[in-house]
Amino acid sequence: MPYRAPVSEFSFLLENVVGFSAVQDTQRFAEATTDTVTAVLTEAGKMCDEVMAPLQRNGDLHPARLENGVVRSSPGFAEGYKAISDGGWVAITADPEYGGMGLPVVISTAVNEMMSGACLSLQLNPLLTQGQIEALEHHASDEIKALYLPKLISGEWSGTMNLTEPQAGSDVGALSSKAEDNGDGTYAITGQKIFISWGDADFVENVCHLVLARLPGAPAGTKGISLFLVPKFIPDAAGNPGVANSLKVVSLEHKMGLHGSPTCVMSYEGATGWMIGAPGSGMKAMFTMMNNARLGVGGQGVGAAEGAYQHALAFANERKQGKSPFDTIIGHADVRRMLATMKAEIFAARAIALDCAISIDMGRATGEAEWDARAAFLTPIAKAFSTDIGCEVSEMGVQVHGGMGYVEESGAAQFYRDVRVTAIYEGTNGIQAMDMVGRKLMDGGEAAARLLDEIEADAEAAKGALPELAGAVWEAAETLRETTEWLVAQPMAERFGTAVPYLRAFARVLGGHYHLRAAMADPDGAHGRIARYYITRLLPEHAGLLGHVRAGEAELMEISPDDLAA
Ligand SMILES: Cc1cc2nc3c(=O)[nH]c(=O)nc-3n(C[C@H](O)[C@H](O)[C@H](O)COP(=O)(O)OP(=O)(O)OC[C@H]3O[C@@H](n4cnc5c(N)ncnc54)[C@H](O)[C@@H]3O)c2cc1C
Repeated sequence: MPYRAPVSEFSFLLENVVGFSAVQDTQRFAEATTDTVTAVLTEAGKMCDEVMAPLQRNGDLHPARLENGVVRSSPGFAEGYKAISDGGWVAITADPEYGGMGLPVVISTAVNEMMSGACLSLQLNPLLTQGQIEALEHHASDEIKALYLPKLISGEWSGTMNLTEPQAGSDVGALSSKAEDNGDGTYAITGQKIFISWGDADFVENVCHLVLARLPGAPAGTKGISLFLVPKFIPDAAGNPGVANSLKVVSLEHKMGLHGSPTCVMSYEGATGWMIGAPGSGMKAMFTMMNNARLGVGGQGVGAAEGAYQHALAFANERKQGKSPFDTIIGHADVRRMLATMKAEIFAARAIALDCAISIDMGRATGEAEWDARAAFLTPIAKAFSTDIGCEVSEMGVQVHGGMGYVEESGAAQFYRDVRVTAIYEGTNGIQAMDMVGRKLMDGGEAAARLLDEIEADAEAAKGALPELAGAVWEAAETLRETTEWLVAQPMAERFGTAVPYLRAFARVLGGHYHLRAAMADPDGAHGRIARYYITRLLPEHAGLLGHVRAGEAELMEISPDDLAA
């Protein structure tokens, strides 16, 4: 079944669930009226349905390949990318001074998700460019901004992020690429980077790499890392791509999925680069890109889940098997359970991502630190929960298809293979959870408590209309509050073994909160019924997860490597 971008669902969420009107009420985003936003989402959705979705299988069946050192993209990707850049979809939040539209992040979160659902491997390209634009907007000199931002924003050039090296994956501080001062304002970058997504593309004039490297004598670890902008072609005085830089794509990885996205081994051989930000502050600058990318990758998880769901729903409506009141397998209770779970989980994950984006917008529009803290707290949840849901929903999509799900021809397996990496890249989901129980609780749990206050206040207000649902959400939030207070009292080093269940429990409760809001807005409609399903059947998982958290990590770490081998 062809993908259909869920435009009306976004409108429902923005209006009834995630409080978009607060963003519209700010001076900065006053122009993001409901009519404008609807027009933007409708237009983007059309491009996703008509141009990007038909490319999804091409990427899988005809992977990107390396030909004489140049990446050749999958058939149709160049035309697909042209539609993305011509439509202005590469960077709708970017600064209008450099050609962007200055729209709220929540709108680009929706557009990114729709593009991911249509064709994940192609969407990864502009997603990386968006992150680079944001990093340059915040940390580059005016000269670099003037030269690079218009080209990146228009999509004429694309951007990559280069952190990973063979010995430096999650531990970025172990990287060893070097940068030496050329004495003319530029640096010579030398080293090997692995797993670089879209390290080259044949549909853009230039590929701009943001590369982490060390200056001579820099301290070990993350403090000694600086960030450099290293273009494939060095721009001439007029800003056009000039001479080729000393860098190359050595090879492409053969992967489980996401075949349309070239994953490159890159070699920098004294390549000319420009420092972005101050020496030693590379991780800070890269974090601007990574935070943007984390939310973006969360959106990839939701998008892929939506694509897989639509595919499974269409199959369930057609496949006849056994006696069913609807003549097809959608009449069977277990198939209905799978589809309802998929839909309810997508709703929760999507709402978390949109709410995180709204917090970013509100932080930018008001300058209030509480919004920034809220966004920072929600970011690892938006990344990890949404990508876990992407994996779980697309796996369930395979199950709905029965044997055909295991046969590539049905297309169900591709969603699972493609989305699987989203739980790994941009910081594995385990690392996201550690960030949450570590840095994000360093405020003594204040940001978490404020969110729980919101959830409980909302549930209180809903008790009159929907007492059972509201009561369940209130109780869940209260249990989570008690566990959060307990967790904050634990030594940092002892929180990590329970980080993943804690993150998931928080996401579960947030999901209950958003579903409750949806049920209040549409009590007798589909949203109300899906909310009831989520709150009565999926939300209770939080109690088991919190039990896991409260058990601490002593017993876990008592299991020795020898025990595991026994
Ligand atoms: C398809 C693909 C595209 C990618 N694109 C890019 C890109 O564009 N740019 C880029 O720079 N990188 C990219 N990456 C790299 C990606 O970000 C890393 O693979 C990821 O950060 C994990 O690093 P690693 O593979 O070295 O795994 P490792 O760090 O070796 O991790 C292995 C396991 O150990 C766990 N682990 C590691 N350290 C800890 C710890 N301290 N505490 C608890 N658990 C830990 C991890 O969670 C994981 O489960 C890409 C990877 C893939 C597969």
